[in-house]
Amino acid sequence: MAALAVPGAWPWALGAVALNHAMLTTAGMMPRSPWLGPNLSCLPETSAQCRQVALTFDDGPDPTLTPQVLALLERHGARASFFLIGERARRHPDLVRALLAAGHTAENHTDTHPLHFAALGMAAQRRQIERAQAAIEAVGGQPRYFRPPAGLRSPLLYPVLARLGLRHASWSRRGADGLLSDPARILRRLQGTQAGDVLLLHDGTWRPRGGRPPLLTVLPRLLAQLREQALEAVPLPDPEV
Ligand SMILES: [Zn+2]
Repeated sequence: MAALAVPGAWPWALGAVALNHAMLTTAGMMPRSPWLGPNLSCLPETSAQCRQVALTFDDGPDPTLTPQVLALLERHGARASFFLIGERARRHPDLVRALLAAGHTAENHTDTHPLHFAALGMAAQRRQIERAQAAIEAVGGQPRYFRPPAGLRSPLLYPVLARLGLRHASWSRRGADGLLSDPARILRRLQGTQAGDVLLLHDGTWRPRGGRPPLLTVLPRLLAQLREQALEAVPLPDPEV
């Protein structure tokens, strides 16, 4: 308010507002940054000491990919967290039940996966999250974490999550398997995986060029690599209070 009384201070005040806005926007476009609010991007120290790595899959459940991912995880004795899209969970409730029965966790990845999620107002963000939460809870899941589409978020997200009792989760390493089609390139991105990492992969439909989804080549090799490193694949832990 002091700046309003001193016309000469206006450019500075406006500059400060613009800078503040630019910083918030930049922080929101950096999925792993902790600047806007609590963000789980790697596992707590105790999990890392136990040589654990969290496996996370976004964008499912998908009737083609998800059952194959579940079979691969079972074969390798691995467990994971699935960040589900609410409308897909409603369409494929049996897949959600199957992943829960296998000891994986179902987490929240919005209801319809709008790519402009970070630009939505608070009420629209809340609707997206609430509907997905209801869809997953209706089949027995209990999401503890939320991950926005492409990891992009605005500061409006945090009051919404606090109200719904959810935590924001990102990742420490991602395969970019939604963008890349070459399994070798995806695996190279995951090569330096170490204890405490949160890995991001996708079990949503593989559309770009049809053919065999690269995840089906990547996942068995990744799980074998983790075993060689004596790393245990686990779901995201219960949030620390
Ligand atoms: Zn997604």
